[in-house]
Amino acid sequence: MTFAAELSRGLKALFPWVFVWTVLPLIPFILLEQVRPAGDRPRWRDYALNILISLSTSVLMWPVGVAAGFVSRALRGHLPWKPLAFSFARIGHVPWLGRVLEPLAMVLVPLFLHDLWFYWAHRLEHKVPFLWELHKLHHSDERMNCSTFGRNQFGQEIWTAFFSMFTLGLLVDLDLREAGRAAYLSNAFFMGWTMFCHSAIRVRLPWLDAVLVTPQVHRLHHSADPAHHDTNFADVLPIFDILFGSYRRPGPAEFPATGLPDVPAPRSLWAAQVPPLAASTISLRAWARRRSSIVQTDDRG
Ligand SMILES: [Zn+2]
Ligand SMILES: [Zn+2]
Repeated sequence: MTFAAELSRGLKALFPWVFVWTVLPLIPFILLEQVRPAGDRPRWRDYALNILISLSTSVLMWPVGVAAGFVSRALRGHLPWKPLAFSFARIGHVPWLGRVLEPLAMVLVPLFLHDLWFYWAHRLEHKVPFLWELHKLHHSDERMNCSTFGRNQFGQEIWTAFFSMFTLGLLVDLDLREAGRAAYLSNAFFMGWTMFCHSAIRVRLPWLDAVLVTPQVHRLHHSADPAHHDTNFADVLPIFDILFGSYRRPGPAEFPATGLPDVPAPRSLWAAQVPPLAASTISLRAWARRRSSIVQTDDRG
């Protein structure tokens, strides 16, 4: 199938499900946040802008995924290594537990690969100024809530979505039907879990904090308090924070305020999506100018 044909088929298939998947699962979390908020109770306008941002970025993700798939497929025949052949069906043949282990592997294997890549991408977003200009939108929510999960500038989403899919396509030569099912199952789990992690519900799960990212663990990542900055980068699996030294376990009463005190939160879809792109480009150009002046000084020296 050509790139254009796949793109038009995919975009048609996206409607109206993109609304159903992005909005309906939020309802139970919104109800809980209103009943038992972790801090300031989120207002309806806090939800509305995040939902608009999620919808606009979700629609853009499909062309990004298709592009990543086509580029990795085109490169696969020219790689110096042979992509691994891997079948989830083999796990399904394990006696007794196969029926449970197969879907579990379909959730966990893509999730592990996603988080391994996402952890470092996320650390870079906090470290490199032109990437931070894009990621700032996610952190600017002063009343973090279940809809904050989708509050991402589309430039940042393109960056992370393209490279995670592209990397997977270079490493593993999966059966396409299994790949689709695994992507669907792991994404269904991921969407529900990340909505929960961003929710402003005052809930403590200390027995789970080091196994799966909980609302309190991710709240520290969004904290307005500089003492919590640059901690808990993982999306779902804290093992990467534990291994690479950025894990911070929340204390019993730690439900800090969220947001960026020096950065006013944007109030419209335009302000959320367009100015960060311009600020990121300016920051990238400034970095390139600095690099070229360092190189010229070195040459003269
Ligand atoms: Zn972050
Ligand atoms: Zn977040």
